[in-house]
Amino acid sequence: MTRVLVIEDEPQIVRALVINLKARKYEVDAAQDGASALELAAARHPDVVVLDLGLPDMDGVEVIRGLRGWTRVPILVLSARHSSDEKVEALDAGADDYVTKPFGMDELLARLRAAVRRAEPPGGGEEDVIVETGTFTVDLAAKKVHRDGADVRLTPTEWHLLEVLVRNSGRLVSQKQLLQEVWGPSYGTETNYLRVYMAQLRRKLEADPSHPKHFITEPGMGYRFER
Ligand code: CA
Repeated sequence: MTRVLVIEDEPQIVRALVINLKARKYEVDAAQDGASALELAAARHPDVVVLDLGLPDMDGVEVIRGLRGWTRVPILVLSARHSSDEKVEALDAGADDYVTKPFGMDELLARLRAAVRRAEPPGGGEEDVIVETGTFTVDLAAKKVHRDGADVRLTPTEWHLLEVLVRNSGRLVSQKQLLQEVWGPSYGTETNYLRVYMAQLRRKLEADPSHPKHFITEPGMGYRFER
């Protein structure tokens, strides 16, 4: 079943989208502002996002940037304004397509289907969903970590942090990027959160947590995952 995340603050539009999507057997989650949308996206891993650019708490473009830090989920933007600048900015930030309000439901559904179709990899299944290290194995599709033949229990926050790092394997991920992707856009400077959660991940996953081989600190910069 295809899961849609609708991010929109106008109740009539939300209602119309939810009714029409559910009638076509989509599973629907809805958020009315950017902060709860980013949390819902992290918790529910939608297959496609429908995003209104005019949200009460933040610019929709910020939501796109927040999502793009860790996911390639297709994003279909709803733009009320006629300014093409806004659409260009949204596309530059990583949106896949846009529909201008007021939109026809048939058009929106057609764009949605096209966005989902484009996102499906040709061979089926996500590439590189199993990441193995000498100590543990991460299954990104199943959202599971195994170590010594057993599942490692991670909290949703630990999992999200792990996922962002693993998806950027070998690359430095800045403190700000990690904080904004895992905790939300207003957490860019709370580096103490990262220290606490990285210590937990190392305790659960590193052979020697005090000499990490997989979760590497780049002092003052961020963190890097190495296999
Ligand atoms: Ca709006």
